[in-house]
Amino acid sequence: MKPASPSSAVMTPMVEARAINKSFGAVRVLTDVDLTVAAGEVVVLIGPSGAGKSTLCRCLNRLENVDSGVVLLDGEELPAEGRALARLRTEVGMVFQQFNLFAHKTVLQNVTLGPTRVKGLSAADAEHRARELLDRVGIADKADHYPAQLSGGQQQRAAIARALAMQPKVMLFDEPTSALDPEMVNEVLDVMVDLAREGMTMVVVTHEMGFARRAADRVVFMADGQIVEVGTPDTFFTAPTTDRARDFLSKVL
Ligand code: ADP
Ligand code: MG
Repeated sequence: MKPASPSSAVMTPMVEARAINKSFGAVRVLTDVDLTVAAGEVVVLIGPSGAGKSTLCRCLNRLENVDSGVVLLDGEELPAEGRALARLRTEVGMVFQQFNLFAHKTVLQNVTLGPTRVKGLSAADAEHRARELLDRVGIADKADHYPAQLSGGQQQRAAIARALAMQPKVMLFDEPTSALDPEMVNEVLDVMVDLAREGMTMVVVTHEMGFARRAADRVVFMADGQIVEVGTPDTFFTAPTTDRARDFLSKVL
């Protein structure tokens, strides 16, 4: 068990989305979504395909603009554009289903690029930090390899190291293991569980219910663009209260 998260009642939430609405053309994708994530908390977002999980994640760092509502990061509102948005975005690490590594750069270069270009770290400091992170995710020996020379699981761990190198306040994971061969899923989930235990604030979209049980403080179940049910993993998996959640769980468990 991980230690209990600090009480959100006495602390500024790390992430707060208030009354988010989002449509693509005539299609309503998010309806009045409220989500608050305390510092150090791990929230697992689950729900059927098309529920709006990815869109919500992208709205949390304004990769996607919202039609209405606000997103606050550590108490600061994310503006729609400009330098303040660029700065706040560096505080949100994102890991996607597709690893999105730069194919023509080595693993080490992938991890040092952001810190040197965006954060102004010296090459030596960035490399020192990158090697520590690669060690932490278990691929220190791959530093000088190119992404194509790595397995999917190794590439995804490199992507996690790259995100962590920016020293984000929160990490968003959107189905980080969905593109992996089954035997590589756990090596990535183990890194994420470690990160959760170390106190990282995390929002994780995943179909890995075992991860949710191991690492989540709260499970947030979405369907049709709305948050339908929220609970601890224990409560949610053993006694879901809505028909939608029961139906979903009967299909995935
Ligand atoms: P999930 O991640 O839960 O599967 P998504 O957030 O990807 O759901 O998608 C929610 C809905 O929004 C789906 O109906 C999807 O087709 C639609 N959608 C997502 N992105 C776009 C886009 N860029 N343009 C139009 N429709 C989109
Ligand atoms: Mg998705």
